[in-house]
Amino acid sequence: MKEPIGHDRAKAILAQTRPQALLLTGPEGVGRRTLARWYAYGLNCERGFPPCGACESCRLDPHPDHLEITPQSGERQRAVIPVERIVPREGGGENLLEWIEVAPRFRKKVAVIDGADRLTEAAANALLKTLEEPPGHAHLVLVAGSRDAVLPTLASRSLEVRLNPLPEPQLRSITDDPDLLVFAEGAPGRLFWALEHPEEVRDLVRLVDALLLGLDDGQASAERLKELLARAKTGLSPWPFFRRAFAKLPPDGRAEALTFLVKLMEAHEAFVAPELLAAWGVHELRRIYGNLRPRAL
Ligand SMILES: [Zn+2]
Repeated sequence: MKEPIGHDRAKAILAQTRPQALLLTGPEGVGRRTLARWYAYGLNCERGFPPCGACESCRLDPHPDHLEITPQSGERQRAVIPVERIVPREGGGENLLEWIEVAPRFRKKVAVIDGADRLTEAAANALLKTLEEPPGHAHLVLVAGSRDAVLPTLASRSLEVRLNPLPEPQLRSITDDPDLLVFAEGAPGRLFWALEHPEEVRDLVRLVDALLLGLDDGQASAERLKELLARAKTGLSPWPFFRRAFAKLPPDGRAEALTFLVKLMEAHEAFVAPELLAAWGVHELRRIYGNLRPRAL
């Protein structure tokens, strides 16, 4: 069992209230899954919260009373949690309902739905029935990016605990590398990933620097921005490095640059064609930086 970094308030709430239906929200990598596991171990620990890590239950991994349900990628479609993972269907295999009805080996059965925003409509409706009347030994933990992403009927029956990005000093016990800390954006999961792939992070830094320093060469800049957008699609987010660079601009330029960044991120999320976005982005950046230059000289 891994002890979650930070989130002391969330841990205290869980230990005190022990909700049967919990909705854990927050950005990817912030520690939602780690906290969900910590909660599951605490519910079954001989000594209660925080889980001791040493009793018979705490030493089991995998644990017979824990179930994790994650989205499955279909061909050419968004990964989803289909209804057969929630309720029995012919040929459907293991499902939440049958699993959770059987008495626990220790005290509680804990099912984590990792990707509650990825339940199909049928799956969400099936889950709703269990959420409304769970067996006494059952705990359900829904994990999602935000409350809005989850079906309102599910969210309204759950206690929401939101995990916010951790302040940087809390992550500095892991590393003091400034590039990796900026990349992590307060999410320990992102920081651990970055520690294993430092060259990919440095490469992002180099690309962002080259883009902002070479804006006069429009074509090369557009290529660099296109490359950065392609990496963002794979989860290698360049946005925090743009924010770091913009923080050094004078106040009016900074505000304009940050507004530009929000628009760029939104358009990127909306799948605007990268060529168009790169050309527009470089045009905007040249305008913003061009306006600042006469005063800097
Ligand atoms: Zn224990």
